[in-house]
Amino acid sequence: MADRLARRLHRVPPTIFTTMSALAARTGAINLGQGFPDQDGPPSVIEAAVAALRGGRNQYAPGPGVPELREAVARHQRRCYGIDLDPADQVVVTAGATEAIAAAVLGLVDPGDEVAVTEPYYDSYLATIEMAAAVRRPVGMRRVGEEFRLDVDALRATVGDRTKLLLVNTPHNPTGAVLDATERAAIAEVAVRHDVVVVVDEVYEHLVYDGRRHVPLATLPGMAERTLSISSAGKSFSFTGWKVGWVTGPAELVAPVLSAKQWLTFTNAAPLQPAVAHALDHETAYVEELAAGLQSKRDLLCDGLGKLGLDPVRPEGTYFTLSNVSTLGWPDAMSFCEALPGRAGVVAIPTQPFYDDADAGRHLVRWAFCKETSVLERALDQLSNADLTA
Ligand code: PMP
Ligand code: GLN
Repeated sequence: MADRLARRLHRVPPTIFTTMSALAARTGAINLGQGFPDQDGPPSVIEAAVAALRGGRNQYAPGPGVPELREAVARHQRRCYGIDLDPADQVVVTAGATEAIAAAVLGLVDPGDEVAVTEPYYDSYLATIEMAAAVRRPVGMRRVGEEFRLDVDALRATVGDRTKLLLVNTPHNPTGAVLDATERAAIAEVAVRHDVVVVVDEVYEHLVYDGRRHVPLATLPGMAERTLSISSAGKSFSFTGWKVGWVTGPAELVAPVLSAKQWLTFTNAAPLQPAVAHALDHETAYVEELAAGLQSKRDLLCDGLGKLGLDPVRPEGTYFTLSNVSTLGWPDAMSFCEALPGRAGVVAIPTQPFYDDADAGRHLVRWAFCKETSVLERALDQLSNADLTA
């Protein structure tokens, strides 16, 4: 079969999330790998979806999304960030953030163009950039003491006149970093200087901890006209299986995204779109409680992994923590994660697939804490009773 695979996919391995969730299913291990909550989102949102299913909302939604969701997204951006958008041509609903990222890259980038991207990167970025036949230019997030920070010197050295697009993720999966004011200013500075379009994946916008606030890059001076912002109901409302996302920005940039998107899915999830509109308008309290609960779960998991000598980073946002398994003598994260179900009945994610720079990610393992407290406690219990050395 491999010889029939199109060349554009030769450098794209199968997604690690499928591989590791299959490993969890096969071994019955606790899945702290793929990032999905083990509890549904708000009941009122499910009821809104049921009402839409029963109420005849079952045919194609308009290509850019149903008007009530586009309007709700615009209201959300205004309320949370003071960003003004015209729902008619500055908001497009997508099949999750994944399609928004793909449509942004395919709609704005030509073969051979350079795309600078924060590294480690969510794996669909790699696939999308390869499928667009663009040239990937990673900009590292590096561990500095107890946290990960954007390497702003590398950013300045990488982004230049050849850069067509800068793809940024904040809050950042998998490092948990939330870009700070200095990092945001550096991104704005290079983007404006080199007239680069910035695509910001903000799917974890509401999952930030210790009183932090997510500040969209689109709100920085000179950035509104060059920034596309992407989010998704999957993370904010715990409906990852619905795959309802959106992209917002200036009409001149949203139009190319829609041009590509219309040929990817055209449209999706018609009855779920009004339910997500309901969530954005009425479930703010759910999101706040979700973030508060996740902060406690973060502390539970990080404290537990720390006691086991796994050296975890306490993330500022997202629902992942990274730990370094070199301290336990492992040659790389992949071998640790392959052994972990047998040793401890737990699955985690090796981060090597998220790096061009194999050395930088070699020993980093990602653990998800978007799980019930009892599940995290059981996982920690199993880990503490296992031999985790190489
Ligand atoms: N971006 C990041 C950083 C993610 O972690 C994920 C995974 N949930 C996505 C995009 C994809 O989001 P969606 O499921 O809405 O396509
Ligand atoms: N975004 C989720 C994660 O990072 C997984 C999404 C997927 O399975 N593609 O774990």
